[in-house]
Amino acid sequence: SKGIPRSHPRYWSLVLREQLVEAWRHGIVVPEGLIAHGRGECFDYLIGEETQWFAREAVRAAAAALLLAQHPVVSVNGNAAALAAEGLVRLAELLDAPLEVNLFYRTEERARRIEKLLRSLGARRVLGVEDATARIPGLPHPRGKVSPEGILRADVVLVALEDGDRTEALRRMGKTVIAIDLNPLSRTARMASITIVDNIVRAVPLLVETVRELKTRPRGELEEILRNYDNDRVLAGALRFISERLERLAREGVAMDPLAA
Ligand code: ATP
Ligand code: MG
Repeated sequence: SKGIPRSHPRYWSLVLREQLVEAWRHGIVVPEGLIAHGRGECFDYLIGEETQWFAREAVRAAAAALLLAQHPVVSVNGNAAALAAEGLVRLAELLDAPLEVNLFYRTEERARRIEKLLRSLGARRVLGVEDATARIPGLPHPRGKVSPEGILRADVVLVALEDGDRTEALRRMGKTVIAIDLNPLSRTARMASITIVDNIVRAVPLLVETVRELKTRPRGELEEILRNYDNDRVLAGALRFISERLERLAREGVAMDPLAA
């Protein structure tokens, strides 16, 4: 990326920031989205900036749920579009599912820009732009605007960097909600049916790969994966991982000597 030396120890983190700022310049991301990303970065630091077992387990269950769904929908907001648009388009394609632009700070202009980006990457069905005529019960306008063909009638919805209230409202409607959220303590993470505690830039490609792998398996096997999945265990696993990692680092010492080695 321009201006960021590859040798910088936080190279990838800086690249993602630049990608988000660029998306903000293009009217895809709102300033609040930049702040939300910062909150995520903090948790990424804590999990070691790598996909851990709890995320792998959740991704497997998510893939199974999406493949078993009657009406799966891939929800896309500004940050998701900025960081993972290509993967989300591939995922929708594999599932033969629509993408739905679903914005917390909704403007029609931004919805259209995101649709355009998704279409430029090959998306066929993009809902929630011209057709967001339905409402999620319990959410204020325009926060609750959804497509009657998409999120309103979906049985399984994939969301990323979602708001806790909206996740709760979707669960109240009886939907299976799969959330990608780096913070295992957010209301979204705790309200979702399946929580992938990982960075969206790693989680989406892994989900695409896993859907591809499980696509040919018999339904019984996918149902088995879902039956054996326990989101509480996965969330507890994420918390324990962080806590044990911090304990170990504290024990071993984290101070660095710039003159050593
Ligand atoms: P909630 O409303 O669910 O309680 P919150 O209010 O704490 O969450 P929001 O700003 O509403 O936080 O949502 C943003 C969420 O997205 C945060 O939980 C943050 O950890 C997560 N997040 C930010 N960046 C990423 C990323 N790149 N990948 C995955 N998750 C991210
Ligand atoms: Mg919130």
